[in-house]
Amino acid sequence: MAIKAIGILGGTFDPIHYGHLRLAEEMLELAGLQQIRFIPAGTPPHRDKPQVSAEQRSAMVKLAIADHASFVLDEREVRRAGKCYTVDTLRELRAELGAQQPISLLMGGDAFLQLHTWHEWEQLFELAHIVVGYRPGFTIEERISSAPARLQAQYRQRLCAATTLREQAYGGIAVMGIPKLEISATVIRSRVAEQRSIRYLLPNVVAEYIHQHQLYASC
Ligand code: ATP
Repeated sequence: MAIKAIGILGGTFDPIHYGHLRLAEEMLELAGLQQIRFIPAGTPPHRDKPQVSAEQRSAMVKLAIADHASFVLDEREVRRAGKCYTVDTLRELRAELGAQQPISLLMGGDAFLQLHTWHEWEQLFELAHIVVGYRPGFTIEERISSAPARLQAQYRQRLCAATTLREQAYGGIAVMGIPKLEISATVIRSRVAEQRSIRYLLPNVVAEYIHQHQLYASC
């Protein structure tokens, strides 16, 4: 049996919303992945105690994806004490899943253009593919030429077709046009604080959790 290709979607998910869920759904379909793992970020130890705990952010992800057979919650960063770098999370996943497992790290175009600022960023390509979602009509090509030379070189050398994401375990960069919903966690938090409606921006179960636990009341 062929090994299923998995995608990794990290984020603070503070809270998770339809922007995240549509991104995951589009990537699942366009990249032909069989599973997407949502990995909520832990709370860095040096940060002041946040209003919403990592466990609560994670609980909201769990509720939001409960009815999707291909979406899975992975709580490793929430459980891990200390600073979490994506490269360490990918090393752990690679060790658990084996050398043959196709793993794709999903991210938006803006995040990709800042990739050179990530801890041990060039190692990421030895562990996973990178799948970049960008707005249709906007091309990464237009913006990559102003990125640092090393990022440009990685991009040009590793650009691959979606099929590579399933056929090889790591090392490719694929770019996909994905409509971006105008929803952000920041807007949701301030709407809750202003006692405005957040309906249709995120799943009802998540909105109910926010209201029950009185989250974001004073953002
Ligand atoms: P905040 O408003 O607090 O900065 P956010 O809504 O941008 O949060 P994150 O948890 O930081 O959410 O995002 C996780 C991932 O989801 C990132 O890769 C980000 O680019 C992507 N993402 C966030 N919002 C959208 C959206 N509306 N459409 C597509 N992708 C999104």
